[in-house]
Parts: sequence; structure tokens; C-alpha cells
Amino acid sequence: MIEPFTKLLLSWHDINKRSELPWNNTKDPYRIWLSEIILQQTQVKQGRPYYEKFVKKYPTIQALAAATEEEVMKQWQGLGYYSRARNMHSTAKVVSNEYAGRFPSEYKEILKLKGVGKYTAAAIASFAFGHSYAAVDGNMIRVLSRVFGVSAVDGYPKFLKDIDLLADQMIVPDRPADFNRAIMDFGSIVCKAKLPQCLGCPIQDSCIAFNENMVGELPPKKAKVAVQKRYYIYLVFNKDGKTLIRKRGAKDFWQGLYEFYLIEQDSAPSLSDSKLKALIANELQIQDFGIDAISLRKQRLTHRLVTALFINITVADSANIINDESSYHWTDIGKLNSYAFPRMIAQYLEDLVIN
Ligand code: SF4
Repeated sequence: MIEPFTKLLLSWHDINKRSELPWNNTKDPYRIWLSEIILQQTQVKQGRPYYEKFVKKYPTIQALAAATEEEVMKQWQGLGYYSRARNMHSTAKVVSNEYAGRFPSEYKEILKLKGVGKYTAAAIASFAFGHSYAAVDGNMIRVLSRVFGVSAVDGYPKFLKDIDLLADQMIVPDRPADFNRAIMDFGSIVCKAKLPQCLGCPIQDSCIAFNENMVGELPPKKAKVAVQKRYYIYLVFNKDGKTLIRKRGAKDFWQGLYEFYLIEQDSAPSLSDSKLKALIANELQIQDFGIDAISLRKQRLTHRLVTALFINITVADSANIINDESSYHWTDIGKLNSYAFPRMIAQYLEDLVIN
């Protein structure tokens, strides 16, 4: 059953391949790696402009390695999962310094690079170097699970192992890159997660899920992780045209991005003016300030929901809010757009400019 499937799949791909995507028309490992990192947890539509922006600004891996982390984070702003940008920058430096700027070609070497897991290493090894490794992503998992009726009766980890084994058996040694691309494209165009195009599907006759009426049940679902709720109050100061910001540390999400003065609470903040004033007076040990405006925003991250209340606050010039050990610093409000902020703060700033 494997051989007829791969033949049908490759025939489908020869006619339907997505050659409009720029990373599908190159064997340059740098560009392939860049696209794979950007497309981790990002839709093609959202990731493509970022890919094009990065390739233009950093045409070689040496150019990316030579950029500062601040610059890279700024370019990445809005794409989320910022650890990808940090790892990408660190890998660019490693390839530039330890591999003389030549991307490693062996799967095991590629796998050692920061931010590169089994899927990404297999994708680079096959697309750029023609090595026979199956790149098992969500599309491949879905297609193989449905076509071959692979379920999670023995648990989800065993299910993933079964898919890996199947994918390794199927990879077509003389066309590994085409096989990987074919199954990814087939999964995103025909055997989609929602509304798969079973009528007219060239694999329908041999598809177990279709023939046993299990398309809706396969692939099996992973157990859901509970969403953690975080409640932030951001104090957006205006002290003589300056505001307080700091870079977020390594112990929490949004690492390396900037934020305004933060007060974190265990529960949703009160919107009452008098309660907010009391809270701020208590936090900052100051009395001479005024609240100009407040706005409430939410951002959903993979396992978190961040609710933030932005409070515009004017303080007297003499106000002494931070001490020498503080991680915050004053910066000109007019220069805020040179910092990389989480999407929620960047949108808040954009709305301020528009209004
Ligand atoms: Fe996917 Fe439906 Fe085709 Fe089976 S018949 S491979 S479920 S699109």
C-alpha cells in the first residue's frame, strides 16, 4: 500500500506543487532554514512577508550574524514566539564563526543547531542537500494518520512513534525533497485539517479514514494544556516627554522584548479610578501624579492569556520613581519605535499614533 500511495502523491505533486512560494524554489540552506524557522507555528500568509523582509535585509547568514540582537528582534516584531528569533540569531553566529559561514550539510550536524528540531533538520537536509530524511510536520502526521488509519489506541507518544516509522519507510530515496514537499502541500491543499477535500481526492480509494468513515477522528487529538491567566498593569509614564521601559528577562515569556513599568496581579485589575490611584501610590510611593487614560487589552499566547490594563500617567518632573538598581530606564517617548515590543504593546503604541 505504501508504494501506490507515494506514486499517487508524487504524481499529484508534479501537477500541483506550490512553486509560487519563494522558499520552494531554492536549494540555498540559509534561505530554507530561515523559512522553516519563520514557519514554525506561523501560517504561510503571515510568515511570507517576514521571510521576504529578512532575506532582503540579511541576504547571507553572515549578514544576519553581524546584526545586533535588538535589530533582529525588531525585525521579528509581531511574529510571536520570540525565542525563535533569539535562537535564529545565535545559530547564524555559530554557522558564521564555527562553520566559516557554510551551513552544515549532515542531518546530525544540522540537528545540533539551536532552534532546530528533528522536523526542521530533516526539512533542511532533504530540501537543500537531497538527503533521505522524512520531515514529519503536522501535515504529514494528519495525512499519514488518515491514509493508513493510524490512531492513538496505545497513547499519543506511541502514535507519534508509529507515524515516524511509517514516514521513514515511505521516504522516496531518489526524491526525498519532493516527497516531503508533496505531503506538506497535499496536507495543506487537499487533506486539510478542516474540510478535507475527500471528493475528488486522488488517494480516496486507498484511504483508510475515508473508507472506514473516520476522517473526523483522525489524526487523534493531543490532550489540551490548561491556559494560564496573567494580569498586568502597565504604567505608561509621561515625565517631561520620557517614559519608563525595561527589557524582559529570561525567566518568563516575551524574553528580550521591552515593556512599560509593570505591576502584576493575581486577578483582574479593578477599573475604579480611586482604587487604581491607591494602587499606584502604594507601588511607587508617590502622591503627585495624574491618570490621563486607561485601556484594557488582551493577548492570547499558546498556553497563556495576558490581560493588561495600560494606564497613562503624568508625574511631576521631580518624581523619583526608580532607583539605581532598577531594571527600568527612561527613554524618549518619540524613540519608542526603535524598540522591539510584544504585539500587544506594539499595537497599543500604533493606536496612540493613529488617535
Ligand atoms: Fe485525506 Fe480525504 Fe484524501 Fe483521505 S480521502 S487522504 S482523508 S482528503
